[in-house]
Order: sequence, then structure tokens, then C-alpha cells
Amino acid sequence: MTTNMQVLLASRPIGWVTEENFRIVNTPIPKPAEGQILVRNHYLSLDPYMRGRMDDVKSYAAKQELNEVMGGRTVGEVIESKNPKFKAGDIVQGVYGWQQYGCSDGTEARKIDVSRVPMSAYLGVIGMPGVTAWIGLLDICQPKAGETVVVSAAAGAVGSAVGQIAKLKGCRAVGIAGGKEKCDYVVKELGFDACVDYKAGRLNDDLKAATPGGIDCNFENVGGEILDAVLRRTNAFSRIAVCGLISQYNATEPYAVKNFRMILTNRIKVQGFIVGDRMNLWPQALKDLAGWVASGELKYRETVAQGLENAPKALIGVFKGQNFGKQLVKLI
Ligand code: NDP
Repeated sequence: MTTNMQVLLASRPIGWVTEENFRIVNTPIPKPAEGQILVRNHYLSLDPYMRGRMDDVKSYAAKQELNEVMGGRTVGEVIESKNPKFKAGDIVQGVYGWQQYGCSDGTEARKIDVSRVPMSAYLGVIGMPGVTAWIGLLDICQPKAGETVVVSAAAGAVGSAVGQIAKLKGCRAVGIAGGKEKCDYVVKELGFDACVDYKAGRLNDDLKAATPGGIDCNFENVGGEILDAVLRRTNAFSRIAVCGLISQYNATEPYAVKNFRMILTNRIKVQGFIVGDRMNLWPQALKDLAGWVASGELKYRETVAQGLENAPKALIGVFKGQNFGKQLVKLI
């Protein structure tokens, strides 16, 4: 291969992101200067936050600039090193974005051990999404054994870990996911106690049946009508970790929450969080996650799109629920 395929942000979406918002270009493979490394990316992580960065609005993360390579986490192999901290053949997790090759001074590259787990797992269950699940559940919600934990987008990268960790802590874990296949997976393969199919049209009734003792902790990934349904089932002194609001990311009109008063009447503690703000918790989280994966107590699944040119379609698919577990793109 002699060129570096890249995906750029061509235009900012209004409402739903489309494939036309991206542009694919082929550029020369960069040559590392003194102190730099050249990395061939094997996997690219596709994450819901990428949609927010495509907008020209103030947010916790810097916006994605137009006509620049889309940002994103990657894992790959160092193929040339002019940095004494790395050597050719090292496998690294980095933030090289939507491109086949990345070149940097290595500041954000972290060597990873792929002798026992595949490198792709470092973008999912033992990477940012897994740490997100750990922090939101254990640091923010702080569930006690016997309590009921509800998580939306339960078959996804973050949600699937949340419910399994809740079970490890002795809680009742209830997922909310789109479709019977996802709900069956969440209960039968991941071991949640119940899963509500929000697409079946009986969200309030089914959530009531799945949470006979009410809800003590809610790990919110979706927002909108799902959050409203959860609020109706909350117990006094329950906790809500607001992790994501994916139902709103492509919306042009914000959803007006109807059951906000439950926060007052049930004295609910609500806290939004961003995983990158809590770097002090990452080492413990990663240690726990890796241990649970090794012992088989934490299972994960991946949906892998083949080829960088299919990344735009795959990202759009995440907002349509087409992914099962962590959405990745395999680049080679
Ligand atoms: P997932 O793997 O869970 O994929 C997203 C899933 O969301 C889809 O598969 C789909 O599942 C569900 N979904 C999409 N659109 C809708 C909708 N309109 N209504 C209901 N469900 C929808 O993604 P992640 O695990 O990577 O992320 C999950 C959430 O966590 C996101 O909101 C994300 O922004 C957030 N997040 C927050 C972080 C933080 O630091 N605060 C860090 C990482 C993620 P289904 O088929 O079940 O509908």
C-alpha cells in the first residue's frame, strides 16, 4: 500500500448525519520525523460522541474541524519509529482518527498487551466504553447489593458492561434495548435479570413488570421517552448517572422531559459525567475490567465493518441501532 486513505468531515449535518457529510481522500503515507512514530491502524472505534463533534456548537469536546481527518480512537502497529519509547512491531492504542496510517510524537499512544486479549478489545470493554460503564455505575450510582439497576442501550458497548457489572455487585440488572434479538442476548448471554424491548410499544407497562421493586439506579444512555419511562419507576433516593442521550444527537428539536418532577418528589441525585474528566479512576477501572474479562465474568460483543470506506455508513448505523455491542471498523 502506498497511500493513506482518510475520511474527512466535508460538511456539518443538520439533523441526521448522512454519508454526504464525509469525504474520502487518498494522501501520501506520512514519513515520521525525529521523535515520531508511524502507526498502521488496524481498528477504528466508532462512537456516538462523534456526532456531537460534527456540530459547530460549544461542548465539552473540541468540535471537529471541516476538511480535516475525523478524530477517533484506534489500535494498530508501529511500523516505523524514530522515538526511543517505541519500536517497530509495538501494538498501540492511540487517537489517530479515521485514516489508515497515523504519525505522531507518541504522546497519546499507549502500548497494549495483546497476548491474552485481541487488540480490538482495547477500544471497547477494556477501553473507553468499559471505563465509562465502570465510572458511571460504581462511582456515580454506587449501587448496593439487592438494588435494581436499569440501563438503556443495554446491548451496546457501554450498556452491556453496565448490566454485567451490576450483577457482579449483587444487583438486579434490567436492560432496555431495541428489539427481541438484543433483549434475548442481554438476558440469555449477558445474564441480566430482564430486558425491556422499547420498540415493542409497551415501554411503561413492560418496564413496570421488569422492575417490581422500582428503580434505585439508572444509567442513562438514551434520554427522551426512555428517560421519562424510567423516571416514573424511580424509588426515593435513587441515583441517575447521565452518560449519554443518544436519542437526541440527530434531533433538531430537543425532547422536553415530562416527568422531571420525579427528581424532586423522589429526591433523586442526578449527575452527568464525561469519562475523560476522571482519569484518576481509569487505572482501577481498567484493572477490574481486564480481570473480569479474563475470568469470563464480563462478556462482550463487537460489530465490525470492513474497510475504512464503510466507516460513515457504520457510524450512521450506530444511531439506527444496527450495532450489537462495540462498533468498530477493521482497516486491514
Ligand atoms: P452503543 O454501542 O450503545 O450504540 C448505541 C446504541 O444506542 C444503538 O445500538 C441503539 O441500540 C441505541 N440507540 C441509538 N439511537 C437510539 C434512539 N433514538 N433511541 C433509543 N436507543 C437508541 O454506544 P456506546 O456504548 O458507545 O454509547 C452509549 C451511550 O453512552 C451513548 O449515549 C454515548 O454518547 C454515551 N457515552 C458517554 C460517555 C461519557 O463519557 N459520558 C463515554 C462513552 C459513551 P438499540 O438498538 O437498543 O436502540
